[in-house]
Amino acid sequence: MLDKKTSKRVLLNIISEYPRKHKRRDPFYVLVSTVLSQRTKDANTDKASLALFKKFPTAYELSKAEIKEVERLIKPAGMYRQKAERIVRIAEVIVECYGGKVPNTLKELLKFKGVGRKTANIVLAVSFGIPAIAVDVHVHRISNRIGIVKTKKPQETEVALAKILPQEYWVQLNGAMVNFGQRVCTPKKPACSACMFREVCEYGQRNTSGDSESGNSGG
Ligand code: SF4
Repeated sequence: MLDKKTSKRVLLNIISEYPRKHKRRDPFYVLVSTVLSQRTKDANTDKASLALFKKFPTAYELSKAEIKEVERLIKPAGMYRQKAERIVRIAEVIVECYGGKVPNTLKELLKFKGVGRKTANIVLAVSFGIPAIAVDVHVHRISNRIGIVKTKKPQETEVALAKILPQEYWVQLNGAMVNFGQRVCTPKKPACSACMFREVCEYGQRNTSGDSESGNSGG
């Protein structure tokens, strides 16, 4: 496992070299599109979000929507029946309990069905600029592969990363890790031979060919 100083340097390099720009930061959009993004690719999430928000741009409008129509609009995101039900329910609760505004605390966000720590932390970080580390499959996989953490569950990764990375960088970490995880440290065939972290990365050192999946410690 890497020492804390090296781990911090790697994380800061990922943040500076692979920054991710968010297209929109309004909380309702970020919340709903993050729910839509579960278990699908960015391109599918974008298609579904675009169609959905064109028709139902606010929590109030989505709360009144017909589930069947929402299902049709978000179909590209997959699991569309479950997701449609969840996002309409989320919209209803936002309207009924929060005056149409997405709450800005972890505790309140976690009360929504279909919203876990990852989604809640993304909303806090991206929309409200509140320090939070959102750990998704990319963050969990990459942190373990490199040897920054040795964890089994995403929440353990969140706690471990919070001890290494100064709070001022938490908001940027998820987006940069997602970007890095899509472009370089991909789930199945990470481009280790072209990766700037190969010299320190535990997985990269074991996989000298750069294309082998053997020895995968994180994903
Ligand atoms: S060396 Fe390979 S496994 Fe390590 S961070 Fe880079 S791409 Fe990922």
